[in-house]
Amino acid sequence: MAYAYDDQNIFAKILRGEIPNNTVLETEHSLAFRDIAPQAPDHVLVIPKGPYVTYDHFAAEASDAEIADFTRAIAQVCAKLGIEPGTDGMGYRLISNAGEAGVQEVPHLHIHILSGRPLGRMLQKA
Ligand code: AMP
Repeated sequence: MAYAYDDQNIFAKILRGEIPNNTVLETEHSLAFRDIAPQAPDHVLVIPKGPYVTYDHFAAEASDAEIADFTRAIAQVCAKLGIEPGTDGMGYRLISNAGEAGVQEVPHLHIHILSGRPLGRMLQKA
């Protein structure tokens, strides 16, 4: 599978500092920032700094250091937001849309972290 990365996508521009973002966390290989159109009280996007289009692209081609950093960045964001399950009905949902069927709007890997309200069942009928 060949993955073509478009470096004009909006998250690439955020990473280059060309447009602003509301940063929650920055690590060596990852950036987390608030979604511009939040769908829950907490809606944070976690992205790798490297040029990866989708989760499968990242998982196949990123270095072990990038994968560890990204995975731990997600945990650090959950801790910062105080949304880990186990206290006061807290919890969250991770979503990563990929490709056309996944309705991916921005072609740079991002994990949505959604929390702060009951999120309902996982999928609705199209
Ligand atoms: P997806 O459909 O998974 O590709 O979602 C893309 C997400 O990026 C949407 O939830 C948008 O609201 C969000 N988004 C688009 N532009 C920005 C931006 N400049 N800053 C923060 N979030 C953004």
